[in-house]
Amino acid sequence: MNTTRSVQEASRLLRDADALIIAAGAGMSVDSGLPDFRGSHGLWTSMLPEGMNERDIGSLTQGDIFRRDPLAAWRFYSRALQVCTQTVPHPGYQTLLRWAQDIRHGAFVYTSNVDGHFQRAGFAEERVVECHGSINFMQCSRPCSPAIWSSSDLAASLGDADRLTSAGLPRCGCCGSFSRPNFLMFSDSAWLGARTFAQQLRQEVWRGQIRNPVVVEIGAGLAVPSVRMFAESLRMPLIRINPRDAEIGEGAGVAIRGSALEILSRIDEALVAQRKS
Ligand SMILES: [Zn+2]
Repeated sequence: MNTTRSVQEASRLLRDADALIIAAGAGMSVDSGLPDFRGSHGLWTSMLPEGMNERDIGSLTQGDIFRRDPLAAWRFYSRALQVCTQTVPHPGYQTLLRWAQDIRHGAFVYTSNVDGHFQRAGFAEERVVECHGSINFMQCSRPCSPAIWSSSDLAASLGDADRLTSAGLPRCGCCGSFSRPNFLMFSDSAWLGARTFAQQLRQEVWRGQIRNPVVVEIGAGLAVPSVRMFAESLRMPLIRINPRDAEIGEGAGVAIRGSALEILSRIDEALVAQRKS
């Protein structure tokens, strides 16, 4: 199917649905200018502390880094926090928000992105699952308790990442250990997942109320397949948007090759044209 026909098919699936499930991977954030958290793809390298190279990113994404080398970890992730806070979500989020508002049961988001940009764009907190957690919350690196807390003031208070010292790193208010972001890293037994599990439960309850949903999967790659596996496991009509790996099983829906922002805009244009005709 060529792209124009695929876009038409996607807009028909959307028009006929009564609920929208948005399954978003790193490709959704990349269009806002954010790097892919799990892979470097050259973008994280611009955020590396002085004296480190791309090879070091591997160790920075391991769960024990905040205990093994908290200063290196915080120099890296304080930049990530600042970038996530300062970057404006691209207009594709507003397109999705409009679709959600126009559909009977609204939308639920399932995303592996830790940037919190769906909530920033206006999606309700209780309609988002962040399956890998969020950089907008902190936890103890040990952890000494199930507590998590907002990192909203942290980005500004940490200041220049290169000037961070061990004495200035954020700490757990309970035990005094270093704190860390409440997102899932590789081999990460210390991650506190309760917030994510509560989000998942809310989504399952909502899914019990909808009858005729459509899933829009955006920028979910094969390298870390959490989002893709989730979208396929639903066995609901699926619109897959991806610049690479844009294939889909026979009868499962429609796959469209392209970036998140570009394809969302094209589907939106097709929806508007359908309404006028
Ligand atoms: Zn603690």
